[in-house]
This record gives sequence, C-alpha cells and structure tokens, in this order.
Amino acid sequence: MTDNFDKSTIRVMLLDDEPFMLKLIGRLLENLGYTALSSHTSGREALVALAGPIGPPDLILLDLNMPEMDGIEFVRHLVEQHYAGSLVLISGEDERMLAAASTLVQAHKIEVLGHLRKPVSPAALAALLAKWTPPAAARSRAAKVAYGADAVRTAIANGELVNYYQPKVAVTDGRVVGVETLVRWRHPVDGLVLPDQFIGIAEAHGLIDDLTRVVLRQALAQTRAWRDAGLTLRVAVNVSMDNLAALSFADFVVAEAVEAGVMPSEIVLEVTESRLMADLRAPLEILTRLRLKRFRLSIDDFGTGHSSLAQLRDIPFDELKIDQGFVHRAWQDETLRAIFYASLGLAGQLNMEAVAEGVEDQDDWDFLRRTRCDLAQGYFIARPMPAADLPGWIETWDARLLEQTPALIVGDPLA
Ligand code: C2E
Ligand code: CA
Ligand code: CA
Repeated sequence: MTDNFDKSTIRVMLLDDEPFMLKLIGRLLENLGYTALSSHTSGREALVALAGPIGPPDLILLDLNMPEMDGIEFVRHLVEQHYAGSLVLISGEDERMLAAASTLVQAHKIEVLGHLRKPVSPAALAALLAKWTPPAAARSRAAKVAYGADAVRTAIANGELVNYYQPKVAVTDGRVVGVETLVRWRHPVDGLVLPDQFIGIAEAHGLIDDLTRVVLRQALAQTRAWRDAGLTLRVAVNVSMDNLAALSFADFVVAEAVEAGVMPSEIVLEVTESRLMADLRAPLEILTRLRLKRFRLSIDDFGTGHSSLAQLRDIPFDELKIDQGFVHRAWQDETLRAIFYASLGLAGQLNMEAVAEGVEDQDDWDFLRRTRCDLAQGYFIARPMPAADLPGWIETWDARLLEQTPALIVGDPLA
C-alpha cells in the first residue's frame, strides 16, 4: 500500500532558516519523487502559507533551531491550527535533545515520523519516508481522475454541465442578496465532478470560452426565472482570465443579457487572476466596457492572486471577495485576522462591497458579525445547490436566523 500512490501529489513543506539546507533537502525529496514542495525560511512565512488557499501540507520537515520563531513554537501554532499531517524534526542538536522534542510534539497529538540529525543523510531520509503512509485524503487526491480535453469538449457539447448556486447573504441581517454560480459536470459514469477537475483543462485547451458561454447562458435564464417568480437576486458568474483575451467577449455578454431580459446590474462577474497575464490590455478594455454597461465586477480570491493590488488600481471593481483562506478561523488566528482586516479596509477605502468566503461554522459567522464585512458566503450558510432547491433553502434559512440569532432580526447591538 505504502508505495501505491503518486508521490508527486503529496504536499510537503520544508522549514529551515538556512536556504542551503532547504535546497539540499529539497533535492533529496525530489529524488525520492516528492515534487510538490514548498520551502520557507521562517515560521511566520510558513504559517501564512499554511493558512493560504492550498491548505496545509501532508508532511512538514521542520528545523528546530531557527532564530525568530523556533521549531517548538512553530509546533504550538500547528496545534492551534489543528494540523492533521505528519512531521519530521531536523536539528543539529544531539540525539537526546531531538528525542525530547519528538516526545513533546507527540504529546500534542501530532504524528512525528521521526527525527533527523544534521547533516541529513539521504539514506536516513529515505528510510523515514519509506515507512510512512500518507493520509487517505492525500492518497485520494493522487487517485483523482484526470480528464482529457476531448472528454471536456464532449461534456460541453452534450449539455452535461449544470450550474449550482451558492447563496451570498448580508452580514447585518442575513438577507439573501445573491448567489454565485458554480459549474458542475454531471458525468455519465463518475457522477458529479467538481470544477477543479475540468476548468484548468478547459483553459489549457481553448475550451473555456465555450464553457463560460454555456454557464452564463444558463445563469441568465435562471436569473430571469427567479425574478419572474418574485425572487430578485444578484447572480454571479465566474469568468476566467482566458475569457478576457478576445475583445468579442464583452459583446457576447451584453447580447446574452439582452436576449435573456436581464439587467446588467443583476449580474456580477467574478474574476481571478490565476496566473500572470503577459498582456493586460484586452482584459482591461473588456472589464472596463462591461463596467460602463453597469455589469458588476468582483475581484475573486483576494489576497492570493499574482497582482491583486495592481488589479485594484487598474480595474473599477464593485466587490472584493476575501479568500476563504483568510476567513475561516480568522477569529482565532492573529495572522489570518490581520490579513482579513487589511482586505476589509481596502474594500472600504475603495468603495467596494466586501464578501467573506469560506464561512464554514458558527464561530466564523459570529466573528464576521462583529466586523464591517458586507456579505458572507460559505458552508455554514449553505453549500452550492441546484437552482430548484433555492426557494426551499431560503425558507429554512429564515427560520434558522430567527431561532439561532434573534439579535440579527431585532438589530445588531454592535452595529
Ligand atoms: P471560487 O470561485 O473561489 O468558488 C468558491 C469555491 O469554494 C467553490 O468550490 C465552493 O463550493 C467552495 N466553498 C464555498 N463555501 C465554502 C466553505 O465554507 N468552505 C470551503 N472549504 N469551501 C467553500 P467549487 O464549486 O468546487 O469551485 C472551485 C472553483 O472552480 C471556483 O472557486 C472557481 O474558481 C472555479 N469555477 C467554478 N465554476 C466556474 C465557472 O463557471 N467558470 C470558471 N472559469 N471557473 C469556475
Ligand atoms: Ca468565485
Ligand atoms: Ca473565491
């Protein structure tokens, strides 16, 4: 079983204040097949990465002796974050010291694979990793089906893509303000496939325009249907940077909205910069034109992109979505909270509505209610659902609001 997984998908974090050691151990790991590495020279930096959108690694190799935040202090932060992965301790200290540190970490219920003395020998590292079985989640990630471009093309052509919708609610009174459209693939054999498994393929093979057209068309029709049924919602659609390469995209969006009888102000276009764009002229022109037509623009995954701040300067966004990595558990983590408040402040100063993503539990929601954040979205409120489920969900949500947080209804004492 141990060798029965693709090591390149196992996430490994290296933390050592000496860049030379990072390189050396990194090379050893790569030779063993562990290529999904992230390296950091300080605990602070590593904690930010842990809280980021990629999530915690499956394994951390940790140097105990570091100047700013030492290894033991770092472990304390891992415990606070409920780190569920494994740990290897590394140090130039003698064996007894290392053994004592291992015992200490294990007392915190973190799995210690073992410890390595510097200089780290390739054989000792290989032996440690050989007896390790990564957690099931990591292995199933490795086992994920990779779909080919042809399969995705067929799915688009055959109408196998369906829109799910996740509510966005006002933080002050819980009112449902809108929904975000999240595409799913109803695969004839594999069941419901999540977008992470096909959006990247669509982008890489020139299929993303077709995909977005299908998603947008369905979303516009749904917006109209909800309005006709007395439900006025702002409907958000995710737009890939690759959609913004051809100038005709703006005309397409305008034409489709007219055809569906939907006003631009009912539609939100969520844009993420997932990678560096060589040429920003076309995206800038398209977004500015759409904004002039009164479509609402939202900057997605704020805090994680390549040049979020530059985007804010250049594009007149109406909405800023604070990435879920800075929302969930921000109430108990100082670093996350600092980033959360900084993002919120930016949104306020630039007159944008702030949306907190990843509101996963009651603690997140309670925290949010004490902030000036405008909107909230996340599993605590609702998971993405088929359009037909939305009216029923709104009823239960209203009931939940009444019984759970009566303060919301009579007015927030902290507002
Ligand atoms: P996103 O735009 O950041 O969408 C939010 C994702 O977070 C969704 O994942 C949603 O289901 C998930 N989510 C919502 N609440 C919570 C929560 O409380 N906790 C956690 N852990 N996750 C939460 P999903 O549906 O798998 O979509 C993943 C990504 O795929 C989206 O991220 C978006 O970037 C992309 N995507 C989805 N639909 C489309 C589309 O039609 N076009 C394009 N270009 N991209 C899309
Ligand atoms: Ca989004
Ligand atoms: Ca997002």
